[in-house]
Amino acid sequence: MIVPSGGTIGILGGGQLGRMLTQAAHELGFKVCILCPEENSPAAQIADLSIVAPYKREDALDELAARCDVITYEFENIPVHAVRYLERDHLVRPSSTPLRSTQNRLDEKTFLNNIGVPTTAFAAITQMDDLIGQGPLMGMPCVLKTQRGGYDGKGQVIVHSKAELAPAWQQLMMQPAIIEAFVPFTRELSIICTRGINGAIAFYPMSENDHRNHILHQSTAPAETSDMMVMRAQDMARRIVEGLDYVGTLAVELFETEDGSLLVNEIAPRVHNSGHWTIEACATSQFANHIRAISGMPLGATTLKHRAVMTNLIGDEIEQADALAKEPNTHVHNYGKAEARPGRKMGHYTKVSPL
Ligand code: AMP
Repeated sequence: MIVPSGGTIGILGGGQLGRMLTQAAHELGFKVCILCPEENSPAAQIADLSIVAPYKREDALDELAARCDVITYEFENIPVHAVRYLERDHLVRPSSTPLRSTQNRLDEKTFLNNIGVPTTAFAAITQMDDLIGQGPLMGMPCVLKTQRGGYDGKGQVIVHSKAELAPAWQQLMMQPAIIEAFVPFTRELSIICTRGINGAIAFYPMSENDHRNHILHQSTAPAETSDMMVMRAQDMARRIVEGLDYVGTLAVELFETEDGSLLVNEIAPRVHNSGHWTIEACATSQFANHIRAISGMPLGATTLKHRAVMTNLIGDEIEQADALAKEPNTHVHNYGKAEARPGRKMGHYTKVSPL
């Protein structure tokens, strides 16, 4: 189904990704309705309609469905059953399948390996015996991660010796976990793509990503890579979106190792922080292409117009926004969040330069 011009797009989630999706939807002539549990969320501030309610509330989901022609989501921890509830009678793009596959790190990595996409070695940990048996097989150091709920480095512990295995799991409250071999990566890269309703895929140039305290600090695009590496990354992304029968924008986070191999660390079934630079530097941004895909429009070109460096403004770094906005070729985005808590993504800026 194709959403007519002037139609309404529903978004589950009201953060900065929802806000930038709303901006893109408006430029394409759509209205937006946000469902988010928090009042005055970054997306709701600029949306046409907003419903403030927990994602689980069926009357709120019914209201969203009644108001919208198509519904999407902007973060991966939306309860799967809320999306399932909506998709019984309404158009939801992407569907609940990618959410289910990415909310659990064990399911996600198992899915990736099943479709021939390489990851680091991993094993499921649900009891102490698993940890004792599997932990040492991963080599040291290794990384213990909760199966669910982790983001920005939360829910993971680096383990340096056998003796640290049990305390690490206790630190994670002995929740179901996975143990992973530590990847001595040389760089972190990502590839973002958008898949349309007809199966066409538009790939963005890859970006190189630097993290600080497990939070993305900076993305540089295009990453300096060989054509061969871009082809390998595109092949992985293609397998993923086709394997999930995905519609919309999806990000694949990659580790590059010393021998030039690429391993997938995780996938995000949504627009992604490492693609914010596409707003200024590509012919069609990751946000615009997501809206185009879910509304059934043909995808826009992802052609690079400029080089770009995107830097996040975390916590009180947002106070630099006015000064940065005065710098040449610098585009500042303030997400409109009231409180600048430490570690909170408050905005970002993208500096562009000639190709
Ligand atoms: P994640 O929560 O899985 O996205 O991990 C957050 C960050 O932790 C990644 O961007 C990496 O910098 C680091 N990390 C996660 N898993 C590993 C691993 N297996 N080996 C080395 N570094 C890792």
